[in-house]
Amino acid sequence: MNDQSPSKAATDQQQFLTVLSREDAIARFDAALFPRPLQRESAPLATALRRVLAADILAPIDVPPFDRSAVDGFAVRAADLKDASDASPRILQLNDEVIHCGVLPKATVTGGTATPIATGGPLPRGADAVVMVEHTAPADRTSIEVRRSAIPGQFISGAGSDMARGETVLREGTLVGSREIGMLAACGIAEVEVVRRPRVAVLSTGDELVQPGDVLPPAGIYDANGPIVTAAVEENGGEADFLGAIPDDAEKLEAAMRKALAESDMLILSGGTSKGAGDLTHQLIARLGSPGIIAHGVALKPGKPLCLAVCDGKPVIVLPGFPTSAMFTFHDIIVPVLRRLAGLPETSEEHVSARVPLRVASELGRDEFVMVSLMEGADGLVAYPSGKGSGAVTSFAQADGFLRIEALADHLPKDSKAEVRLLTPSVRIPDLAVIGSHCVGLDILLTPLVRQRLTVRTMAVGSLGGLAAAKRGECDLAPIHLLDPKTADYNTPFLSEGLELVPGWKRMQGIVFRPDDSRFAGKSVEAALSSALADHDCLMVGRNQGSGTRILIDRLLKDARPDGYWNQPKSHAAVAAAVAQRRADWGIAIGPVAERLGLGFIPVTEEHYDFALVSDRRGRPAVSAFLEALASNEVRDALKAAGFTPS
Ligand code: AMP
Ligand code: MG
Repeated sequence: MNDQSPSKAATDQQQFLTVLSREDAIARFDAALFPRPLQRESAPLATALRRVLAADILAPIDVPPFDRSAVDGFAVRAADLKDASDASPRILQLNDEVIHCGVLPKATVTGGTATPIATGGPLPRGADAVVMVEHTAPADRTSIEVRRSAIPGQFISGAGSDMARGETVLREGTLVGSREIGMLAACGIAEVEVVRRPRVAVLSTGDELVQPGDVLPPAGIYDANGPIVTAAVEENGGEADFLGAIPDDAEKLEAAMRKALAESDMLILSGGTSKGAGDLTHQLIARLGSPGIIAHGVALKPGKPLCLAVCDGKPVIVLPGFPTSAMFTFHDIIVPVLRRLAGLPETSEEHVSARVPLRVASELGRDEFVMVSLMEGADGLVAYPSGKGSGAVTSFAQADGFLRIEALADHLPKDSKAEVRLLTPSVRIPDLAVIGSHCVGLDILLTPLVRQRLTVRTMAVGSLGGLAAAKRGECDLAPIHLLDPKTADYNTPFLSEGLELVPGWKRMQGIVFRPDDSRFAGKSVEAALSSALADHDCLMVGRNQGSGTRILIDRLLKDARPDGYWNQPKSHAAVAAAVAQRRADWGIAIGPVAERLGLGFIPVTEEHYDFALVSDRRGRPAVSAFLEALASNEVRDALKAAGFTPS
């Protein structure tokens, strides 16, 4: 490192010296930045869509520009038709012209006469009303009978009645949509003054990052934050310039940051803000301009490592590396600033009240935001914490909203009522809610429902969690695979009143190993196990307490606890990945997962994956569609092809 580079010791010392509360951080950032709409620019009407008006729009002309007829009929003098009716029609002589749209009338409508006029035709001199053609009949070739009386002004749209010359028709700050474009076009405006869009440079940082489309090397991670932030900037009125991912290298990063900041109004980075090797972004910011860092470390979860800075008047933000933390802090703290620069109104903050069916642990001292999915329970909305944590992209991306646990609380009690801030414009209740254990087969089964455009929500909370949700009536179906050790029966013994079993499919569980491993290849279960246990270098991967697979593992191993047993991931996929990546040599998983990774497989036993159906919900259309799909040949064949045995 050259002597300009921050030393490791300095990095450590400067980490989170003062962690600010969320409100303090926002207030200080606002004070240092004082965000307000950028300067204006002129945009032709054709490109004005989604822009923000920088000034009020006054109608330059009257719309319509002249009095015009609102119907097809005859321009008349109302006084001529006093007391006209079916019983005593009035005769009017026709003037010798027909007024179409775009035709300037010549003749004056004098007493006792009428001029034929089309919808939109300019009203002729002398006329003060229009009668509909339906209320007239030809009398002879030059006159008509009128069978209704008329009042002055009838069926006339007066000049300026839509928009009057000089009237303020659109206000500064309006987001231009197709309706606004229509108003502008109608009064002949070809160019509008709009707020210049903030140019936002987006940079990802991290040696491990690879762009989507490129091959993922071992230990590589696809850059999710770059594309997420780029899209979110555009969604909120900015013009994003995604500059790719920069490795954790002080010189390269500084050069990229300087260039990016020079060319834009705002710089958003992600990663490199938490404690850890290679975290240098915040060090570099101090050199970019003053006053520099405003907040580094915010008492917020997800999002503690957020870093807010202002460099010579421009905001520089370092979002946390974890995608959900990055997305959440971006929406919570950066979006309001960006929208103000773009001249946009604040986003609406819709809240709904919901019951939280589980106890949610929370870290003391940080305002914690819990991403939730909303379901319809028996007693109103239920908010399910998505539970995947801030490292998961899906936590934020699939959530309906979030709730807040105050810094001083260390948990939210089960069955609390909470205010959920929606991330979508309104509550989206799915047609079908499936909560419980996940299986690839479930995705296959749901395909026909999705094709029918039914909305389906699945939540993977494990068999027992699903069963509990079904008992509380918070879902339609709970997929379960629970073995009763006493009866050796699957699933049925676990049902209670109000639930019924819908048989699903069987999945073969077995020993997964790399196909070239002679300790397992071609062997029986017993032989494979004894060669694994005899070899001290043979490393297994276990499973979590409470899973059906764990019960199977313990039955196979009896009292043996080989090396790796306590490495206990929560899914078949994680077990297979550990073996494929040589972090372990064997484990127990289901056949289809082993097959997808090209692993060897020694079948041990068949597990039943069934559905606990909430009986009350059997009549729902989406439940019927589910049952039909399950019985269909299409789904059964697809399940078989994926390695499952439909019941
Ligand atoms: P960092 O703040 O750089 O220590 O990153 C924290 C975590 O977020 C690490 O697991 C990174 O791999 C991950 N991460 C950082 N940037 C990104 C990104 N752009 N996309 C996805 N994950 C990321
Ligand atoms: Mg990093």
